[in-house]
Amino acid sequence: MTQPPTQQVPAIHHRRVGDVSLTVVSDGFLDGSMAVLQNISVEESSEMLRAVFRPVPRRTSLNCFIIQSGGRTALIDTGAGVHMQKSSGQLLRNLAATGIAPGEIDTLLMTHLHPDHSNGLATAEGGAFFPAAELGMHEAELAYWTSAEAEAEVARSGQGVPTGGAYFPMAKRQIAPYADRMRLFKGGAEVFPGVTAMHFPGHTPGHCGYLIASGGQSLLIWGDIVHLPEVQVPRPEVTIAFDVDPAQAAATRRRVFDMVATEKSHIAGMHLHFPGTAHLGREGDGYRLFPEAWAQTL
Ligand SMILES: [Zn+2]
Repeated sequence: MTQPPTQQVPAIHHRRVGDVSLTVVSDGFLDGSMAVLQNISVEESSEMLRAVFRPVPRRTSLNCFIIQSGGRTALIDTGAGVHMQKSSGQLLRNLAATGIAPGEIDTLLMTHLHPDHSNGLATAEGGAFFPAAELGMHEAELAYWTSAEAEAEVARSGQGVPTGGAYFPMAKRQIAPYADRMRLFKGGAEVFPGVTAMHFPGHTPGHCGYLIASGGQSLLIWGDIVHLPEVQVPRPEVTIAFDVDPAQAAATRRRVFDMVATEKSHIAGMHLHFPGTAHLGREGDGYRLFPEAWAQTL
């Protein structure tokens, strides 16, 4: 008898945006506490998850994105690498199924430098996982994670890095192998053929989304506008202890939600469930996600 499967096929998902090829590559998932959510009780947020048949406490998907455009290959975010839960750090294994070698990636674009996005930059020995890639991010992101004042403020307040100050040395260690090939930009800059950086500050000071536009089509990779879709989509005021500036993060989320619902934009997110592409519509006082249907041909 044929053995029944014990593991899913590699988690990659292809899509086109005009002439640009987009491939979602899963890094796996992280399980975490509900207590990090703010502006909502643990009881209420847990009940919201149970009501839509999701595990409690939360399970957070991690998505990275490959963009092939103009003969070049970019990777947006690098997942959790080797330093977090064993359910994460799957980027390179899944990337292998795309046929793209890490050495073929010429551009890395970071939404921000939190460990579940940037820990996949450097090997345990401090080398570069992506030996030929330039590392791009918003200038305010690098400035924040290399600021002694910011690190001291987080140590004092606890907001932004709830497990202590270790995020600062982690971020610096991850970007170190790319120090001589770093490219900093501001919001509105075209950072790759057909890709524009969108500054969405609040979660972190330099947090960015990336808008892909080609051939009359577009798709916005909105980064960490949402961490827990079942809660923050209907209740955009719910913030998270990892937000450096929670009030600004909530205001940015409302602004982006309003924009993509009004424009009926295709969106994708790092923490939307794989493959993480959807539309957002208004519902009551909040919003609702409509995940995209499977398409066999591109
Ligand atoms: Zn994140």
